[in-house]
Amino acid sequence: MYEAESLEDLREILGDCTRCPLHESRNKLVYGAGNPDAQLMFVGEGPGRAEDAQGLPFVGPAGKLLDEMLTSIGLARADVYIANVVKCRPPGNRDPLPLEVETCIPFLQGQIKLIKPKVICELGRIAAGVMMERQIQITRIHGQKFLGPGYFNVPVFHPAAALRAPATMQLLREDFQNLKSYLEEQEPPPPEPEPEPEQLGLF
Ligand code: URA
Repeated sequence: MYEAESLEDLREILGDCTRCPLHESRNKLVYGAGNPDAQLMFVGEGPGRAEDAQGLPFVGPAGKLLDEMLTSIGLARADVYIANVVKCRPPGNRDPLPLEVETCIPFLQGQIKLIKPKVICELGRIAAGVMMERQIQITRIHGQKFLGPGYFNVPVFHPAAALRAPATMQLLREDFQNLKSYLEEQEPPPPEPEPEPEQLGLF
């Protein structure tokens, strides 16, 4: 994880990133955007065409649907924080490769540490698998709440998948209602993991 004092400082550390090959084909790096004190954070897999052009997350058709889903639970973009597993667009919107995820994830972890959301809603299978550190079947686990390190994970279908299938759209709508209940519940988020003890010198 990259540690920083603020989201702005972390953005500076990321800089004009060339840490993985995705920088070669990107137009704009998409760091993330939203409320730095958000209770609810969304994590997508990586920028698409519109995001790569604008440098902002979820500004294409999937983003429009995300806005609509947020409105349906009484929230706006300004209330939440939105980021991605990888900060640069994989060519042709392919899935990010393991090396790309490994290289970029410490920045997402740094963002999470600073924002301290109560709930992280993973948008789609890729983001859910990365965040929950296991192979998942989104059709089986969508809309449920899972304990994470310092927050709850709530994986849902990717809005782009909902745009392709009316049945998935209906499930996504229902999952957003679950998300609303999880946010309203009084249950505190799971504790953050203890920091690794510092190695003490012998003398
Ligand atoms: N899809 C994603 O996963 N992330 C974005 O930012 C846009 C589309």
